[in-house]
Amino acid sequence: MMMKTAREQIVAYCSRMAADGLTLGTAGNISIYDPELHCMAISPSGIPYSETDPKDVVIMDLDGNIVEGDRKPSSEYALHSVFYKADIGACAVVHTHSMYCTTLACMGEPLRAVHYAIAEAGTDIIPLVPYHTFGTPELAQAASEALQTKSRGLILANHGMCASGDSLKSAYGLALTMEWCAQVQWRCLSAGKMNVLTGEEMAVAMEHYKTYGQKSDGTHPRGYSSV
Ligand SMILES: [Zn+2]
Repeated sequence: MMMKTAREQIVAYCSRMAADGLTLGTAGNISIYDPELHCMAISPSGIPYSETDPKDVVIMDLDGNIVEGDRKPSSEYALHSVFYKADIGACAVVHTHSMYCTTLACMGEPLRAVHYAIAEAGTDIIPLVPYHTFGTPELAQAASEALQTKSRGLILANHGMCASGDSLKSAYGLALTMEWCAQVQWRCLSAGKMNVLTGEEMAVAMEHYKTYGQKSDGTHPRGYSSV
C-alpha cells in the first residue's frame, strides 16, 4: 500500500475536524504530498469520516490520475494539486467550509491583518479567490493565481478556505489559526470598527514567526493555541 502513514494521518485528522470546529459533516478534505513519489494521498469523496479507513484514501498524481485506490477521490483534487505545484513548500493541504472563514468568503472579504497571527500564513493578507463552481479546473486555476502571492492559505469566495503547510500538523494548525482570525475579523466588522496592521508591522511580525514562533511541529505559541 502506497503512502500508508499519510493515509493514516489523513483519516486521523479528518475525524478531528468536526470536534475542532473546522467542519460540519463531510464538507472538507485533506491531502498529503510526497515530493519523492510526485504523488498526493487525498481523502475520498462523500464517505463519513467515522467510516473512512486508510485504504479508502486515494493516491493521485498532480495531473489528476489515480495511481492507487478504489474510491472516488475528493472532487477538489485539482484545488489541492495547485498548492503542490506552487512554490510555497506545501506538503499538506486542509480544505474546509469552516464557519468564520466561510462567512468572510461570503462577504467577499479576504483575511486581513487584524491580528498578527495571520503572519503564520507567510503573508499580511490571505487572498480571496474569485468565485468559481466547486470541483472545477476554473476554481483550481484561480487558486493557483492567488498562490503567486506566496500565501500559504486562501479564502475561496462563497465557498470556504484552504490552508497548507510543510506537514499536515502545520497545515492543520494554520487552518485553526485562520478560523480564529476570521472570527476576530468578523466580530470587528460586526462591531463596525477594525484596525488593520500596516505592511511594516506585519513584516516585523513575519520575521518574528520565522525566527521564534513558527515551529515545524505545528505548534503556534503566538497564534491560535495561545488564546
Ligand atoms: Zn469545498
